[in-house]
Parts: sequence; C-alpha cells; structure tokens
Amino acid sequence: MTSGTRLLLIGPPGAGKGTQASRLASAFAVPAISTGDIFRDNVANQTELGLKVKSIMDAGEYVPDDITNAIVADRLREPDAKNGFLLDGYPRTPDQVAELDRVLAAEYEPLNAVVLIDADPEEVVARLLKRAAEQGRADDTEGVIRHRMSVYSAQTAPLIDLFEERGLLVRVDGLGSVDEVTERILNALAAAGVVA
Ligand code: ADP
Repeated sequence: MTSGTRLLLIGPPGAGKGTQASRLASAFAVPAISTGDIFRDNVANQTELGLKVKSIMDAGEYVPDDITNAIVADRLREPDAKNGFLLDGYPRTPDQVAELDRVLAAEYEPLNAVVLIDADPEEVVARLLKRAAEQGRADDTEGVIRHRMSVYSAQTAPLIDLFEERGLLVRVDGLGSVDEVTERILNALAAAGVVA
C-alpha cells in the first residue's frame, strides 16, 4: 500500500501550472510529474518518442492517449512516486481519466484532491505571448496558443465537472502573483483536509 499525497493539477494553458506544480511538490515532498515536460525533454533529446510527438505539440494538439497513458503509467511505477505524486497536465481527456483510475485502483490509494487553477482566457493568452518572447517555446505563437485554448475547452474543461462530482475539486483563482496563488492553493487544500 502507498501513503503520501496524490494530487492532480489542471487548468488552461498559461494558467501557471508548471510553476505552481514545483512549489506544491516541494511543499508535499512528492515528485511533480509533468507530461508536457516529459514530452519536451524527449523532443530536445530527439528520442523516438520525441520525434513522434514534436509536430503534434508544435501544432497545439494533444499527444494520442495511448502514448500519453503509457508514459504516465511507467513514470508512476518508479519508486519515488510510491509515496505520493503531483501530476501536472494529466489527465486531459476522458480516456486518460479512465486509465489513471485503473492504475490507481490497482497500485495506489485514491487521489486526495484535484487542483484547478482557473484563469481568464484573454489573460492567459497574454501571459503565453510574454513567455514566448522570453523562452521561445515552439508552441507559443498566437495562433497555436488560441488553438491550445480551444483544445483545452473542448477536451479537458469537461473533466472539471467529473472531479467536482467525485468531491475532489479544489478551485483556485490563478490571477495574482506566484506567491499569492501558491498560498491560495495551500489554503484551499488545507480547507479540504489536504495538509502539507
Ligand atoms: P500547456 O499547459 O500550456 O498546454 P504543457 O507543457 O502542459 O503546456 O503541454 C504542452 C503540450 O504537451 C500540449 O500542448 C500537448 O501537445 C502535450 N501534452 C502534455 N500533456 C498532455 C496530455 N496529458 N495529453 C496529451 N497531450 C499532452
């Protein structure tokens, strides 16, 4: 049996998930597992997986569920995830939810909470364009950003209701400084009985 804290972090592109994920992961002493980072590392290292997903990511589409699910299942089996984890950017589709449910039921205790970082679409487009100028991510051009937003709205936003029905959803406003948002998340989790 496993112990520790098991969290998901969801929210639109540009809501600040990556930044908050590393802070929450250290607060809870669990690994932050970001599917976006795993894919980007593979693209940078030109692995077989990287070559497969590069054009999909550059177009702002989701990587196919079978690929994404296999990567997360493998990563969760590594020893450091046995005592809890924070998944950033997964699951994003109903099929990914079903696969995560299967993996958790077989090998883990249930999730403690699903943190939604809420953000206004126009605000996050502006943030992403700023990040594009600073970091030059290939999927941060305005057209691709808008496409990623619409993919999120169509495929991932509907999952919010599901986690709400399961009583797991902790909703936090993503507008504000990084510190403010972290504090908001930790307070909201504590109010839901999830304490670091
Ligand atoms: P963002 O939150 O801005 O979309 P991420 O770093 O989380 O940024 O993801 C970047 C890209 O990686 C996505 O646009 C998608 O192509 C791919 N990706 C990441 N996570 C998933 C996932 N769970 N399912 C499918 N594709 C994913």
